[in-house]
Amino acid sequence: MIDEIKNIIKEEKRVITDKNTLLKHSNDTTSYHFGVLPDVVVYPKNTNEISALLRYASKNKISITPFGHGTSTDGHVIPVQKGISLNMTLMKEIVSINSDNLTVTVEAGISRKVLNEELKRINLFFPVNPGMDATIGGMVSTNASGSNALLYGAMKHNVLGLTVVLPDGMIIKTGGLTKKSSSGYNLTSLFIGAEGTLGVVTEVILSVKNIIKNKLVAKLAFKDIDTACQTSVVIGQSISGVSKLELLDEQAMSIINYDKKTTYPVSPHLFIEVLSESKDVSFIKNQLIEILKEHKKIIEVSFEYDFKKIEELWKQRNELAFSVQSFFLDKKLMTTDVCVPISNLAIAIKHAREQMKKHDFQGVIVSHAGDGNFHVIFPVNIYDANDIKRAHTMSELITEYALSIGGTSSGEHGIGLGKKKHLQSEHGNSLILMNRIKETIDPNNIMNPQKII
Ligand SMILES: Cc1cc2nc3c(=O)[nH]c(=O)nc-3n(C[C@H](O)[C@H](O)[C@H](O)COP(=O)(O)OP(=O)(O)OC[C@H]3O[C@@H](n4cnc5c(N)ncnc54)[C@H](O)[C@@H]3O)c2cc1C
Repeated sequence: MIDEIKNIIKEEKRVITDKNTLLKHSNDTTSYHFGVLPDVVVYPKNTNEISALLRYASKNKISITPFGHGTSTDGHVIPVQKGISLNMTLMKEIVSINSDNLTVTVEAGISRKVLNEELKRINLFFPVNPGMDATIGGMVSTNASGSNALLYGAMKHNVLGLTVVLPDGMIIKTGGLTKKSSSGYNLTSLFIGAEGTLGVVTEVILSVKNIIKNKLVAKLAFKDIDTACQTSVVIGQSISGVSKLELLDEQAMSIINYDKKTTYPVSPHLFIEVLSESKDVSFIKNQLIEILKEHKKIIEVSFEYDFKKIEELWKQRNELAFSVQSFFLDKKLMTTDVCVPISNLAIAIKHAREQMKKHDFQGVIVSHAGDGNFHVIFPVNIYDANDIKRAHTMSELITEYALSIGGTSSGEHGIGLGKKKHLQSEHGNSLILMNRIKETIDPNNIMNPQKII
């Protein structure tokens, strides 16, 4: 197999079998799953190479697992049937920028941070922000969102078109440069969130935005999480321009204090960012203060204007999972990812906390509260079967409850290996159609097998 692949790729250094490289591609960076080594890691440089490789893999029923930066959380990049791990990071060019149309076309392996560094020069940015420095292809394939989704939406709202190599090697282009189209089935959406199970995304047309520099950031500390949730709903509904509305429970704040040497009150917090076209943001502050007057259970309100301090605040938030990891050094992290209608966020979080108490299981809660999306991060000892079982039970209870109140099992991380068990109750007969789509596009089941369905 390796010789045949080298015939296609033609450059030995892009067809790698050394143990360290295989190990790096055996698992997600933070996964609680056990990894599997691929047979080989291939670094393609263009769409035609991938097409030739997939034609060969299809013919020989060799599994292909696309790999971006491996920051997914649920075993997405584990090559469970070995085969080829396809590392996309050499495909990192910006193909074109059209600032009149506010679109850019990029290769799928470019990282969002590199893209944003380039766009910053012309006062533009790509707003989808999963916190991690993910690749655009990985973000397309998980329908990533994160802390800016309240204002700018998820990947599916910001991707206009794709170039995809199908498992048999056929190259297709979906969508295009226009903001809207009613022409034919929406194939772009089919590949967004497909987790590499239907083909390899090689190029992406993104909708980009003008940078808005004026902002106000508020930090609110509450006596209880219920009031924090309710306040987040009111703020999301009544203030325009809210780009980030993040909720952290008292455990999260305590761990941030421990890891980042901060001195926040150890109580539930909302971190809020509001963007404004106007330089004077005092009117937003006044609006917020007016809303907060209603709530007696607020311990502390403070505003941040210093750009560096604001960056530091979001870094603390984005790196929370790593802070949790540093606190529970001997454990791995299992993270739930449910999303509920925002009016149900408070009861969903209350239910999760009650279950943790009832089952005497520790977890840290953090939420993109403006979207109704929350994570419970469970530190688990992966070598203790009972601990794993208890964590799975917690995750199932939280997810089934979210489904029962109109939510979804995954707001942004995707299904991978870990959430497959909820698809039947979430999707019913639609799961049959999903299976048919997979069988039609990938009859040999070579693309990221055993993921999603
Ligand atoms: C601490 C932490 C916090 C996170 N916070 C958020 C958050 O707030 N919001 C959020 O949305 N996500 C979050 N994530 C999850 C993760 O960062 C995203 O899912 C991200 O989009 C994955 O991108 P990646 O480049 O690392 O992809 P990978 O992990 O490499 O791959 C993800 C999936 O996409 C497939 N894939 C990758 N590239 C391609 C391609 N070119 N074509 C086809 N399939 C491909 C892979 O096979 C895999 O199934 C977080 C992760 C961590 C560890």
